[in-house]
Amino acid sequence: MSRFFCFSARSCNTAARAASYIAGMKKKPIIVVLGTGGTIAGHGASAAHVAAYTCSVLAIDEIMAAMPHAASRADLRMEQLLQIGSENFRNEHLLMIGKRVSAALEDVEVDGVVLTQGTDTIEETAYFLHLTIKSEKPVVVVGSMRPPSAMSSDAALNLYAAVCAAAHPSSRGKGVLVVANDEIHTARDVSKASSFKLEAFHSPYGPLGYIVEGLPRYYRTVARDHTLSAEWSVDQIESLPRVDIIHAYGELDESVVEAIASQARGIVYAGTGNGSIARRIAAVLAQAAQRGVQVARASRTGSGVVIRNGAQPDDERGWLVVDDQSPYKARVLLMLALLGGIGDRAALQACFYRY
Ligand code: GLU
Repeated sequence: MSRFFCFSARSCNTAARAASYIAGMKKKPIIVVLGTGGTIAGHGASAAHVAAYTCSVLAIDEIMAAMPHAASRADLRMEQLLQIGSENFRNEHLLMIGKRVSAALEDVEVDGVVLTQGTDTIEETAYFLHLTIKSEKPVVVVGSMRPPSAMSSDAALNLYAAVCAAAHPSSRGKGVLVVANDEIHTARDVSKASSFKLEAFHSPYGPLGYIVEGLPRYYRTVARDHTLSAEWSVDQIESLPRVDIIHAYGELDESVVEAIASQARGIVYAGTGNGSIARRIAAVLAQAAQRGVQVARASRTGSGVVIRNGAQPDDERGWLVVDDQSPYKARVLLMLALLGGIGDRAALQACFYRY
């Protein structure tokens, strides 16, 4: 009797669920999954090759087909946008990806987007989307440190977790997220901090939350403006101004700095310590600032804030400073800030404290 009861209860549940799907009462979320390559699309000669393999060879539908669990959480619409390592991403790729993400989110049926890419430059793509996508719907950027073919690959679990995060209503309005290794990071803070470990992604103030058994658990939100409250829309950007990063080291030659400064509209100077600039380089960068190049002092240390008019007279030299943005995040932010023109230094400076 009890066996019969269980069986019929289960059938009833299944029938009720099917009926409610049909009636549109309970629908699986629709998630667009965009593939661009990277290790998550990679393949090695054997399972033992966890660090040496070919990147960007599996198509997004092949990757998803090998991971049926994701389809149980959402209706997936796969699309291959690119098939390249993310070290090749240029501004034109960021714009193309951003416009496609934006168009996907405009579809009223779509609940969120998952973007798969190589982990090398996830921090830049995610931050660019974080500042230029005009939607509350979740956008999750995901990659993996080991290809699907490797022993203990993180590809399937990261991708599954990304779909779970994108499909869950609690992820709305949080800006762009990066999911890896059970953690949910904000695009604002996250950076790749290891060249090979599974635990490669780091946010200086910790992740926003975790994915536990396929459900996001959030513990904090992002304090700075993003997506809907940011001033840029990727749909209205056709190109980005040239902003270069110059990395400080003892023998950095003035001529290299001069050559870059003669081409760029903006320079992020990844200085030593608190964004310090050697005297001989400072002279070149002060002249560049006088000519209208926007120079932002950042730090090569990997964390911390840069103090305006602290060790360096920024007002006098016409320089900007980052708040706590890494040189790579600062480059993305300065490119966007320069879209409004290069004249107003105070407005540019305010961007580093606002975003
Ligand atoms: N260098 C490749 C890329 O960024 C592979 C790195 C990775 O995905 O982990 O696409």
